[in-house]
Amino acid sequence: MRTINHNTKFEVSELKDRPLISVEHVTKSYPGEIVALDDVSFKIKEGEFICLVGPSGAGKSTIVKMLIREEIPSKGEIYVANRNICQIKRYQIPYFRRKIGVVFQDYKLLDHKTVSENIVFALEVSEASDDEIKIRVPKILNLVGLIDRAAVFPNSLSGGERQRVSIARALVHSPKILIADEPTGNLDPDTSQDVIDLLRKINSAGTTVILATHDKGSVDQINRRVIKLEKGKLTEDRMSGGYGK
Ligand code: ADP
Repeated sequence: MRTINHNTKFEVSELKDRPLISVEHVTKSYPGEIVALDDVSFKIKEGEFICLVGPSGAGKSTIVKMLIREEIPSKGEIYVANRNICQIKRYQIPYFRRKIGVVFQDYKLLDHKTVSENIVFALEVSEASDDEIKIRVPKILNLVGLIDRAAVFPNSLSGGERQRVSIARALVHSPKILIADEPTGNLDPDTSQDVIDLLRKINSAGTTVILATHDKGSVDQINRRVIKLEKGKLTEDRMSGGYGK
């Protein structure tokens, strides 16, 4: 006979009600009275596409670093998938990071490895089995449209293709959240468009996407929720629409 544990039931219903990400009154200060973030709060639900915007120095990258637990707030709390990530232990950080894929402006690819080896490497460090690697790698390369470039080294790829490899690598653990920090910063408008289209496709498949950018064109075109930072403060949070002023 199955026994119902009421405490467990209660926890489950609580989990359901909480958003995927909750940034609560976060302040980040650095020595020299630099305030990178000043009492910033927002919540993100599963499946959302967020554009995190603001001029250079507004605090966008600082938010990204907090969300991947590269930095911790000076004040405030951050919850991701119901965990207070400010309190997770150092040894738990790699496991936590598998929930989040991250893409940077400068790709961060291994130049001495081919496209597919770059992706295999990301899987190997997490001790994936050979069978899993054989299945996952072509699937991900197909998703980002690079199956034909699998055996090529990064230095013979275009900027847009390199960024698609870094997106592929970010997706190896099927993360719930994909964070892209200025992913189109080094790309021309046409190539940027391809990368934005890919992020939208990934979002349509259910992954929550956070795009930190100051590229007005991309934000206007995406036309989804916009969170704006200025001088470390959250100054706008609109459910849809372009970059604004
Ligand atoms: P953005 O990504 O919007 O360009 P950042 O988050 O990189 O902005 O930076 C916000 C502010 O915090 C800037 O004034 C920046 O100089 C400062 N800052 C960021 N990281 C550090 C750090 N490690 N040490 C000192 N100041 C920092």
